[in-house]
Amino acid sequence: MAIASLTSLAPAATPSRLTDSHGRVIHDLRVSITDRCNYKCVYCRTGELGAQYPELAIDEYLRLIRLFVDLGITKVRLTGGEPLLRRGLLDLIRELATLRTRAGERLDLALTTNGHLLESLADPLKAAGLDRVTVSMDAVDAPTFERITRVPGSFNAVLRGVRAARAAGLTPLKINCVLLRGFNDDQVEGFARFAREEDVVVRFIEFMPLEEGRLWTPDICVGLREIVDRIHQVMPLKLLPPRDAGETARRYAFTDGNGEIGIIAPVTQAFCGACSRVRLTSDGKIRTCLFSQVEHDLYGHMRTGESDEELRTYIVRTVQQKEARHHIGEPGFLKPSRSMVHIGG
Ligand code: SAM
Repeated sequence: MAIASLTSLAPAATPSRLTDSHGRVIHDLRVSITDRCNYKCVYCRTGELGAQYPELAIDEYLRLIRLFVDLGITKVRLTGGEPLLRRGLLDLIRELATLRTRAGERLDLALTTNGHLLESLADPLKAAGLDRVTVSMDAVDAPTFERITRVPGSFNAVLRGVRAARAAGLTPLKINCVLLRGFNDDQVEGFARFAREEDVVVRFIEFMPLEEGRLWTPDICVGLREIVDRIHQVMPLKLLPPRDAGETARRYAFTDGNGEIGIIAPVTQAFCGACSRVRLTSDGKIRTCLFSQVEHDLYGHMRTGESDEELRTYIVRTVQQKEARHHIGEPGFLKPSRSMVHIGG
């Protein structure tokens, strides 16, 4: 009798893990909390700062994230747009820090930012419960950096932000750099030095066809092999073993033991088979792949008054439909209707 009543209290439709139809376990949720950005990076934006999609209230993000966590999500990364622009960010992090995974542990809480507002926010973010940040930087010299962001003074602001984040303990601190041939590919060796001098992990990310304009070609994308070879010539590298099967970055240590770089190569060495991610856009749509042609309106379901149980069922069914892989560079490849800044990078 006691056992029967306990069983009936358990969430009936909740599976033990969130999986897709290709057998992948999904435990990583990226949530965009605004698609506004204070930078206009030349490879990302056409020049507008404004939002294209609505934002949800902070407690609405919280409810939706909690549903994913109920289903097995263990890592949440807040992104945008630029998440540091979002009013209520610290309240959201404080609440997320109280959530527990299905195993009863704290969530792994991370945030991706351009770092422009990080200098004053690093300590409050840490105090609110954020574990670590990834800062996007596409150059290590001020003129190139500011040509890319189209914001004067941005390089020094971000450098101060990086140092403040490290001092606040938002570590391991990662710097993500997107390389484009003819724009900033002369920065490769400089970034290797930067990783060592600033004690950060620099990760180069191959440019994907997710820009607002039409810039992407296979040739503009600087591939993994070229990056490794160039750094290795000036500062010898050795490949590090992956820490887990789902690791997206190939990691390399400098052979003198001082510092590490990583390369994320979705174009030349796609890792879709190990993908463990889903995304929630700022307007509450689930995207099961960066390159999805369809979005799933979770917020729409919530607005009609569906219960948590119904929404969890919707999430489970949606994640089942996750695409096997992207088709970048193949004949017939279609860009998604949203660009990176409006999906949440
Ligand atoms: N504003 C935050 C930031 O700058 O990190 C978060 C949003 S931004 C869209 C997230 C990341 O996506 C940045 O590192 C940016 O360089 C990267 N990104 C933008 N467009 C990209 C593209 N087409 N291919 C690869 N990465 C891209």
